[in-house]
Order: sequence, then structure tokens, then C-alpha cells
Amino acid sequence: MNDDDEIRIVYSAENLVIAEHMRSVLANAGITANVPEATSQVFIGEVRAQLTTPGIWVHSQDSSKAKALIDQEVAKLCEQRNLRTDWICADCGEENSPEFAVCWSCQSEYETKVE
Ligand SMILES: [Zn+2]
Repeated sequence: MNDDDEIRIVYSAENLVIAEHMRSVLANAGITANVPEATSQVFIGEVRAQLTTPGIWVHSQDSSKAKALIDQEVAKLCEQRNLRTDWICADCGEENSPEFAVCWSCQSEYETKVE
């Protein structure tokens, strides 16, 4: 098996909204990422893992670059909203992590709720 064909998890998102966001960030940088369904089973070596959160999977040769881009993006998202703590959605009351720009539950945008 060619080492380049290996895929690795570079980020574990709390929900699909942020996972899809990260996937588009990577796509813009020319990196193809896979986001299996939250309940997918994957094989890591010979170990079968049950995914409970959507992960970002990339080819191993892209993993360092992908990790750096994701770290950068998480920092940027937090900085943009000057937010370092969880926030509560004004629409549905769900709690969201600081890197989320939209509510994981109802997709309301954080920015529109702070005024
Ligand atoms: Zn909400």
C-alpha cells in the first residue's frame, strides 16, 4: 500500500457545521478532506473506531498543512468575534463552542444575535 493513500484525522469537530466549514477552508487551499458521518465506523490501522464526532480526514501527505490551516482558522474565528468562551444561541438556547460562527442546532448566526 502506498503511504500517500493513507488518510489521517487532523481535526475532530463537535458538529457537522464546523466540520463542513473546515472542509471548505481546506478545499480553498487545495486539500481534499473527507468528513464521514458522525456515526461512521472507521479503521485506524486494525482498530475499528466508532466516530462520535465528525472528523476531518485528509491524505497523510496533507496532514501537517491541514492541521496548520485548521489551527489558524480556529484562532481566526475566535478572534473575529473576540470570543474565547462558549456562547448560548439566542434562538434556541443551545450552547456552542467559541469557534462556531453558527449555532450547531438551528444554524443561526452568532453575529446577528449579539446586538
Ligand atoms: Zn440555535
